Amino acid sequence: MIVIENCAVATADDAGTEYSHGHVLVDGNRIVAVGEGRAPAQPGEITRVDGSGCLATPGLVNTHHHLYQWITRGLATDSTLFEWLTELYPVWARIDAESVGVAARAGLGWLALSGCTTSADHHYVFPDDAGDLLAAEIGAAREIGIRFHPTRGSMDRGRSAGGLPPDEVVEDIDTILAATSEAITAFHDPSPDAMVRIGIAPCSPFSVSTELLSQARELATEHGVMLHTHLAETIDEEDFCQATHGCTPVEYLDSLGWLGEDVWLAHCVHLSDGAIKRLGATRTGVAHCPSSNSRLGAGIAPVPALLDAGAPVGLGVDGAASQEAGMLVEELRQALYLARLHGGPTALRARQALRAATIGGARCLGRGGEIGSLEAGKLADIALWRLDGLGHADIADPVAALALGPPAPLELLTVNGNAVVSGGELRTADQDRLALAARTAHRGLMASAGRAPSENGRTS
Ligand SMILES: [Zn+2]
Repeated sequence: MIVIENCAVATADDAGTEYSHGHVLVDGNRIVAVGEGRAPAQPGEITRVDGSGCLATPGLVNTHHHLYQWITRGLATDSTLFEWLTELYPVWARIDAESVGVAARAGLGWLALSGCTTSADHHYVFPDDAGDLLAAEIGAAREIGIRFHPTRGSMDRGRSAGGLPPDEVVEDIDTILAATSEAITAFHDPSPDAMVRIGIAPCSPFSVSTELLSQARELATEHGVMLHTHLAETIDEEDFCQATHGCTPVEYLDSLGWLGEDVWLAHCVHLSDGAIKRLGATRTGVAHCPSSNSRLGAGIAPVPALLDAGAPVGLGVDGAASQEAGMLVEELRQALYLARLHGGPTALRARQALRAATIGGARCLGRGGEIGSLEAGKLADIALWRLDGLGHADIADPVAALALGPPAPLELLTVNGNAVVSGGELRTADQDRLALAARTAHRGLMASAGRAPSENGRTS
């Protein structure tokens, strides 16, 4: 058993329970007690963690990422989404299992250092003969020790079929569906304490066919897995949907049975009032990615209205090629800033941002009963943030310190009861080795795509 004590605790439970000097008691991979003061005496051996000066929260849940992009950061830095994609597709066409494994280890290690205990991933580029890319990133997640929800993504609408991606990075529908079924059979774990669950994720309305979306819907129902895609990220996408399907992106998905509790959608920036109501009524999840939306100038997602409508809203860092920082804890502040730029200082509160980053994200991934809050019976995914250093010590409220202050160092991060970060250091991998491997993989990928690195290591 482990007890974390003498710390502030923000549980993110439905009542918003907090303790100013509380404890969290863990037995194996589960939380068994949370409360004010010292933990009740326990028989047997117990490891005590002194949380003085710290805030305990649920581990953060990242609802949208593209881990392979970790090794393609810093390209097309002043572009719209469609310009950025057009520049990056040819580079991504060169990835393989080895480079994806390197990128995933680096990206997941970095996520853990920013408080993330569960991450989704949306992988949708599968070049011919690249090897088993999903296996590579699942192996990386096991090494880092993070709970992982990779999705088998896909693109089948290449340029010759009126889509945006070049034909060399798209697959045919039969290959996609067979590979998706195989991934579910090989890796999906439906058990309550699963470390790996697979989702199905055609990439976006402008890169996949209607037929693929329909077949993906059927496959998800058949296997009882979640569905995910990008939606309503930019005005360009809205224009594409109107021109191609004669409706908005949300109407398009709705017509295909793609709204519901087993669906979560990345971005949802450009929504009508009717679309917001529909997402709420169907309890369709939204992965809000405020830094990525800012980096690409996509717009501000209507998060307060989505929450009011009843839609589960989680936070996501999005792929590192459109969000080089990739720190999940920073997304709390970014979410607050964007919502307040649009709707004033009360549009979104620090505790709402914390809820989105924890229980909101858990609900998006279909795991609200297992993770996302500090409650007896939930899995022991816990972040213990150090708030007594120079950056935070004098901030009055610990939750405001976490959300509005600089990224807080982690005294401890446990996933399934195991320490992944302690004393601010990743314990499951060597950070310097991850960085060196990522830099080497980046340079190899750029060379293979005919984009030579310049002398300072940047690429032209
Ligand atoms: Zn994305």
